[in-house]
Amino acid sequence: MDLEKITLKRCDKKIAQCTNEELYYSLLEMTKDMAGEKESSAGKRKLYYISAEFLIGKLLSNNLINLGIYDEVKELLAENGKNISEIEEVEPEPSLGNGGLGRLAACFLDSIASLGLNGDGVGLNYHYGLFKQVFENHIQNETPNPWMEKESWLHKTDVSYDILFGGFTLKSRLYDIDVIGYDNRTTKLHLFDVETVDETLVGDGISFDKEDIARNLTLFLYPDDSDDKGRILRVYQQYFMVSNAARLIIDEAIARGSNLHDLHEYAAIQINDTHPSMVIPELIRLLLERGILMDEAISIVSQTCAYTNHTILAEALEKWPMHFLEKAVPQLLPIIFELHNRVTEKYSDKSVAIIDDENRVHMAHMDIHYGYSVNGVAYLHTEILKNSELNNFYKIYPDKFNNKTNGITFRRWLLHCNHELADLITELIGSGYKKDAAELEKLEKYVADETVLNRLLAIKKTKKTQLGEYLWRTQGIVLDDESIFDIQIKRLHEYKRQQMNALYVIHKYFEIKAGKKPSRPVTVIFGAKAAPAYVIAKDIIHLILCLQELISKDPEVAPYLRVVMVENYNVTLAEKLIPAADIHEQISLASKEASGTSNMKFMLNGAVAIGTMDGANVEMHQFVGDDNIYIFGESSEAVIEHYEKADYVAKDYYEKDKDIKRAIDFIVGEEMLAVGCKENLERLHKELIGKDWFMTLPDFKDYVATKERIYADYEDRSAWAKKMLVNISKAGFFSSDRTIAQYNEDIWKL
Ligand SMILES: *Cc1c(COP(=O)(O)O)cnc(C)c1O
Repeated sequence: MDLEKITLKRCDKKIAQCTNEELYYSLLEMTKDMAGEKESSAGKRKLYYISAEFLIGKLLSNNLINLGIYDEVKELLAENGKNISEIEEVEPEPSLGNGGLGRLAACFLDSIASLGLNGDGVGLNYHYGLFKQVFENHIQNETPNPWMEKESWLHKTDVSYDILFGGFTLKSRLYDIDVIGYDNRTTKLHLFDVETVDETLVGDGISFDKEDIARNLTLFLYPDDSDDKGRILRVYQQYFMVSNAARLIIDEAIARGSNLHDLHEYAAIQINDTHPSMVIPELIRLLLERGILMDEAISIVSQTCAYTNHTILAEALEKWPMHFLEKAVPQLLPIIFELHNRVTEKYSDKSVAIIDDENRVHMAHMDIHYGYSVNGVAYLHTEILKNSELNNFYKIYPDKFNNKTNGITFRRWLLHCNHELADLITELIGSGYKKDAAELEKLEKYVADETVLNRLLAIKKTKKTQLGEYLWRTQGIVLDDESIFDIQIKRLHEYKRQQMNALYVIHKYFEIKAGKKPSRPVTVIFGAKAAPAYVIAKDIIHLILCLQELISKDPEVAPYLRVVMVENYNVTLAEKLIPAADIHEQISLASKEASGTSNMKFMLNGAVAIGTMDGANVEMHQFVGDDNIYIFGESSEAVIEHYEKADYVAKDYYEKDKDIKRAIDFIVGEEMLAVGCKENLERLHKELIGKDWFMTLPDFKDYVATKERIYADYEDRSAWAKKMLVNISKAGFFSSDRTIAQYNEDIWKL
């Protein structure tokens, strides 16, 4: 390790004289050099994980950990009076994803490299990642979120293709980011860009000219799709991503000896959600161009592509109007018609057609017919796909369907974000768990060991204090680390039901006013971005921010209850919040959260969940048992039945239950209107009574009762510490190393 050599060369200074910024760039250079020296993965069949999102987060610390030099660097810096955490803060976070799906792709790359598998990620090099969230007058505003600096993790490559769109061609450029495996090989994240992108196109906030494709194509992750111009831009982006990917895959396969007739022996393509689905017709088209006939081209591609479904929410299953495709990518139309016709010749059932009666192309349907594997992302989710959502496909292709329960990389979500806990675990059971997460079960023998339990509690306290210091320094937020930290962090969506948590806060506010004071104060922490065009989601943020102010200014309530909404929730904040959580909220409407992954991060860090029987919570419950997770609410079967019968009427609950009515009416009461905006609050009030599409009210009473139970149980500190330990010891299954090993065994076969 030559850090000092690098600082001398770069800045003509010794480490002790460098600024944090100079040290960051020196470490960046050193890490990139070291990654280049590592062996890269090899093999005949190679995986290409294509995804519109890779929410990779900051890379420096993780790369140092995976190179095995983190402690050494930290000490060297400390000897020179420097603090590695402060240097980490210089790095901008590349927010190249929205939430769980993008973060999953990033965890998967870490595991692919760490298991030494031959596989790369392929995506787009957005100049601005997910918007930066700024609160003004208790309202979310969006501003651009740049991350690319003159020096970054990107390596410019020589790879470039001419990508044809309807009426024009754009030249691509490939940039690579090294993915350094933990104590293993490296792989790559390939990010394609266009050289004509123009950052000066950005106007007010995150607005820009959506029709100037040459200048805007890779400007933003998921441009606003509230109008047709934004939606068609997504088609351009997606085609650009997959056409580049397909060309790269063909070139690399040929270089490794493929004659293209055997492409499937050289490549496996994982289609992460429907955004990359056009890779199927595009790859077929490229094979036809290279002289392969239609039947064979379809057969080759069908043995190459596998599809992951991430959601059953109808609005997320992409259906592109034919005229969009006609405009942006006319060359794909003949292929898509051919694929569609082959399906309709065989199956008269319209629900499995690729093109529907409204002339829209169902991307997922194409994936299922012409891919060789369809997987859900948690046990319950896959069952729902098989038995209801995609049942008509399951009946045709029972063997294609399989489950791959999501996972997280323990390098980032334990070793990096919670050194204190990782050190304790290593001391107790050795460091084998870092490569084989199942070894965490060895912790079970300490469930009655008071010394260990006390140390767990002490570490939690330390992480709470650290979070408090960080939030004070960066956002001016004051936390009481003696209070219970009850945390809900995830994208803001009605199905995740932040509104139910907010209604609980209101309920608690009334209880405290009525003299029912909790034995220990509670801090309810939220972190969430709402999609810029998602009106009700933004209203919910408004509600939470108004509650934060109202309660903090109420001397009767403030000593017992605090609401905190952190600004600009992202991976960096998640890494600080999760280790500090006592309780985490996984309260989605049963059947709607495909898996969830924050639930796994919290579990690994010794927080206890309150949650519904949804997504991976179901499997967690199986592992830890009733005593160590707080389950409430209607079952997914009951919920699905409500939707089928359309028998849920929110107003009935509002009118019949005094507590519910009191909490909901508070939203538009005098106190709230004094701090908030009438229009937003009234709209939300109306929505909850008139619609409540994600059925907050039927679960509310059970939720309140369960919250009271979990807060009461928290007071038996030793019993609580035992719950923490059980959660940690059972978290091994949720390592993405396990998930990736299963993908490889069942789907990729590398
Ligand atoms: C893990 C993670 C998510 C996913 O959270 P869920 O609660 O599973 O939806 C979203 N955003 C960030 C920044 C994350 O780290």
